[in-house]
Amino acid sequence: MIFQKIINREVPSDIVYEDDYLIAFKDVNPKAKVHVLIVPKDSSIQNLNDINKGNIYYIEKIFLAVPSIAASLGLTDYKLLTNCGRGAGQEIFHLHFHLMGGGPC
Ligand code: AMP
Repeated sequence: MIFQKIINREVPSDIVYEDDYLIAFKDVNPKAKVHVLIVPKDSSIQNLNDINKGNIYYIEKIFLAVPSIAASLGLTDYKLLTNCGRGAGQEIFHLHFHLMGGGPC
């Protein structure tokens, strides 16, 4: 899985934030001037449908980190979204949040 390989440093990426629970890196095909992906370090969570009481702490960690990641990228206004399922446009089945801003997105 590509995002796990990024976490493992087996695939290069432009990492903007990392801690014990999550990693954030620039989207390789940005749809906004600033477009990063925020990813929990648990590839068994494919999307929001896999969130449960045992792993909800990843969501807490991610949401608590979003404002400082956004600020570090110079964003005051931004969009945060996650695609859940192929029909919603999900291509990579490792939960991730798109953080986008810096212009139209
Ligand atoms: P989604 O369609 O929500 O699953 O989003 C997957 C995103 O991952 C897309 O915006 C891709 O451009 C992005 N992506 C795929 N491979 C990489 C990669 N190696 N490094 C950074 N972003 C990637």
